[in-house]
Amino acid sequence: MAIQVYNSLTKQKEAFIPMEEGKVKMYVCGPTVYNYIHIGNARPPIVYDMVRRYLEYRGYEVTYISNFTDVDDKIIRAANELGEDVFAVANKFIEAYHHDTCALGVKEADVHPRVTETIPEIIAFIEALVKKGYAYESGGDVYFRTRKFEGYGKLSSQSIEDLRSGARIEVDERKEDALDFVLWKAAKEGEIFWGSPWGKGRPGWHIECSAMVKKYLGDTIDIHAGGQDLSFPHHENEIAQSEALTEKPMANYWMHNGFININNEKMSKSLGNFVLANDIIRQHSAEVVRFFMLTGHYRSPINFSDELLEGAKNGLDRLKTAVSSLEHRLQESADFGEVGDWLERIDALKKRFIDEMDDDFNSANGIAVMFDLAKEANRYLREEKTSKQVLQAFLAYFTEFADVLGIVITENKELLDEDIEELIENRNQARKDRNFALADQIRDDLKEQGIILEDTAQGVRWKRG
Ligand SMILES: [Zn+2]
Repeated sequence: MAIQVYNSLTKQKEAFIPMEEGKVKMYVCGPTVYNYIHIGNARPPIVYDMVRRYLEYRGYEVTYISNFTDVDDKIIRAANELGEDVFAVANKFIEAYHHDTCALGVKEADVHPRVTETIPEIIAFIEALVKKGYAYESGGDVYFRTRKFEGYGKLSSQSIEDLRSGARIEVDERKEDALDFVLWKAAKEGEIFWGSPWGKGRPGWHIECSAMVKKYLGDTIDIHAGGQDLSFPHHENEIAQSEALTEKPMANYWMHNGFININNEKMSKSLGNFVLANDIIRQHSAEVVRFFMLTGHYRSPINFSDELLEGAKNGLDRLKTAVSSLEHRLQESADFGEVGDWLERIDALKKRFIDEMDDDFNSANGIAVMFDLAKEANRYLREEKTSKQVLQAFLAYFTEFADVLGIVITENKELLDEDIEELIENRNQARKDRNFALADQIRDDLKEQGIILEDTAQGVRWKRG
């Protein structure tokens, strides 16, 4: 059976059938980089990383693109406040984003395109829309002619008339119609700009994703994903731009993840309950935050509180305890036990895990299966005699499921100072022996564990990164 995906466009679960057999083209809207990410921003990278990992587990080759909006009003404002240029601000927060998401176990995208590196494609896209009559220049700005695109509102299930009556009618003489949205903004005095057929300016927000999808993945992609808050107007506008130009569907499956609440309240600037991802990672550890996020279905709202995170930590610890008990038994005891029907029982759990994950990437139920695996493992470990084959089968499935979800279920054994000193000794010896490959290997291994080596005149010094 094929994987079932809830498609926000058709409002139903559908069998997932990619355009090209075995391959998936996936685009996830990324952040505007003017600040550190809060935990609401951390949810899409985590859940779509899980989706990507699961698709890969099921044999698909996934091309995963996620953008950075590195020029916009908020970044310009932040740059002015900090007295830095736009690029410096964007670079700083892109680095911080990578730092936070890497800690949260998110694999890097194949490409992280930036607006400032996609300007020629964006301009070409807008020019083509102007040529087709879907866009017009007005006072140095360029607007999309919303009413001309039939099907506007199809993703968010709103008709043009609903939108008209619901819209705050802002009088803007530059627009032909209140529903038109900006594709290109004329530069204000002192602002960063690029030259264009319409004069100095910069792209509006929505156009970047249309241009990047086309540039990196083509006219139609398999999965387009993002937070539920992006559904309207951002994704609606992306559809209008892309489909007006190509006359093909922009994406076959649209996926949207639910909101995050803090202590049962919506996270908002005015309530002052913004929680930065980095703060919550420091408080509860990245592995617990990721695990907690995946204990909910990606489409459901998720509530954050210290108690719930504590509960998640206890759950994760239960899995870790089962794994380390299995490892311990495997090392310590002889291979006396009967295999019995244990292998079939473990296989049945694997089948259940796949069924749950096939059902719209239900990581919540996938994790429930892992708890059942832990329960079975603990039961098995109570037997006096155990078989290595069964212990290994348990461990293999724990590892397999944990990799799919990107969660950590092995205790990280921190290197002791004396272990580090010994490895540095080995590296020194390797260098004396002119075995530079080994020396480099030791340095890289240490680096992976967060140990930085410094070669000084007085010898090698080290510090924890
Ligand atoms: Zn987007």
